Amino acid sequence: MRIRRDYSGEMAALNSWGANTSADANKINWMAIDVAISRWGKYQRGSVLKCVHRWWDTAERKKRWGQSESNICTLCNLSVETSDHVLKCKHEEMVKVMNQLLHEMKNKIKSCGTYPLLQKNKLNSIEIFS
Ligand SMILES: [Zn+2]
Repeated sequence: MRIRRDYSGEMAALNSWGANTSADANKINWMAIDVAISRWGKYQRGSVLKCVHRWWDTAERKKRWGQSESNICTLCNLSVETSDHVLKCKHEEMVKVMNQLLHEMKNKIKSCGTYPLLQKNKLNSIEIFS
């Protein structure tokens, strides 16, 4: 039997972001998130957490920490490479990778029986963002 974990750390983080902790935290299904994350491998979990917390090793971050002289994206050379830019970079290879990932995500959402309207909503949100 799974023991219910203490989510006080997550609630403190929400509070530090200006959320109304008790009202907002109660809207989140912490147990479902915990179960989903526990199914991921170590690499996937690390990648997602870095993405969520904007800890990707971007050129912008490297320059800020004195590890690089340039903060410009090395693929497109058109923009500062931030976490947002990594997801929106229009370099041909990045567009291919993002399209492939989006395709895989569509298939996974469909294969796990997600409610069709929710599928459409989530996929539209991702396509609008990218
Ligand atoms: Zn770029």
